[in-house]
Amino acid sequence: MGNGSFVDVAKIFIKAGKGGDGAVSFHREKFVAAGGPDGGDGGKGGDVLFLADDNLSTLMDFKYKRKYSAEPGVNGSGKRCSGKNGADLIIRVPRGTLVKEARSGQVMADISGDKPVVVAKGGRGGWGNAHFATPTRQIPKFAKPGFPGEEFEIKLELKLIADVGLIGFPNVGKSTLISVISAAKPKIANYHFTTLTPVLGVVQVGPEASFVAADIPGLIEGASEGIGLGHDFLRHVERCRLLLHVVDVSGCEGRDPIEDFEKINEELVNFSEQLSTRPQIVLGNKCDIATEEQIETFKAYIEEKGLVFLPISAATQQGLRGLPGMVYERLQQLPPVQTYEADYVAPVKTEGPRSFVITQTEEHVFEIDAPWLERILEGSDVEDYESLQYFQRQLGDSGILDELVKRGVQEDDTIKIGEFEFDYVF
Ligand code: GDP
Ligand code: MG
Repeated sequence: MGNGSFVDVAKIFIKAGKGGDGAVSFHREKFVAAGGPDGGDGGKGGDVLFLADDNLSTLMDFKYKRKYSAEPGVNGSGKRCSGKNGADLIIRVPRGTLVKEARSGQVMADISGDKPVVVAKGGRGGWGNAHFATPTRQIPKFAKPGFPGEEFEIKLELKLIADVGLIGFPNVGKSTLISVISAAKPKIANYHFTTLTPVLGVVQVGPEASFVAADIPGLIEGASEGIGLGHDFLRHVERCRLLLHVVDVSGCEGRDPIEDFEKINEELVNFSEQLSTRPQIVLGNKCDIATEEQIETFKAYIEEKGLVFLPISAATQQGLRGLPGMVYERLQQLPPVQTYEADYVAPVKTEGPRSFVITQTEEHVFEIDAPWLERILEGSDVEDYESLQYFQRQLGDSGILDELVKRGVQEDDTIKIGEFEFDYVF
């Protein structure tokens, strides 16, 4: 990023809340010996959502804060009290921000609409032991832990939403133009790179008719090779349906309008073939200080290419009256602003298939057939707390524990995995 004040890509880490744990608790009352299980469920972890905010125009904030987590769910407690759900976290981004999974680059969401979009889901709460009472198991001394929340490394990419994008070399009068055809108030100055943040202006054509035009950080030579602000600029024009190509016909900075026009188009082709085929209206600006001959030469050149040419002066507002209506008409014939479909697919667990078959061989004996789990056991020290934890996690993650519980496993039952035998303890 050449310039620090306009940021339109950012990498952040988001984490949804873990679900609260279920509680192990038994009903207690004076003089009542053994109450039933009354452990409540854990609350759901908060989601992480993204919401479009039209007051934002850059992703600058994300340069400074990179970690975002939603609240975890609260653990359940006795008397069948469920834990509170964790609060969602809503992250506000400029409209048109793409949320991509950082590693694969796959699109998870296009934050272009008005509704918040859930990107990382909070974990479900674990069941309290009140859930696990069965006629044969009246004292369940276990509950389920909450499920983890989803977490992702995210790449945010701003692609502004505008019907019309202004393109052209610095100082040709783009900012001046948008300021006179819309209510936008960009910085206008006689030096290059004045526009460092994109400016969106609503151009009112009639009481019900309007379109959005974007004045975006300037394009410079070599932009498509990633020099200067070019890439940022082009990324934003990508969504525009129509380009207004502003050229200084007066050549007042010692440049040649035809050369400028061709150079900008070259940049477009180099950046994206698709972008270069976007329809253009060519605006010959600074006609107030251009000679008749300059205007005619350039006009002939553009019209020869079958493009619409309009001589204007943004500064004196010459030739601008018909522009909004003409652009509006043209837009009616063009497809709507492009949005991006999510193409993110959650990866298959990298541990490989963890299939298993559970057989109850006797009343208190379960056999688990899962070769992959045997291999883990063979390679781990059962006396070691950490490897035991890892093993337990595998039991949980693979769904084996759930299945055992479903089949009514009880405390101290025997679990056989290949040559190994365990007592089931909660
Ligand atoms: P941008 O870099 O393309 O956004 O250009 P600006 O809108 O900032 O304008 C650059 C300079 O050109 C400023 O000094 C403007 O006042 C001047 N300018 C813009 N439009 C016209 C015009 O139609 N005629 C003349 N004479 N000067 C203009
Ligand atoms: Mg400008």
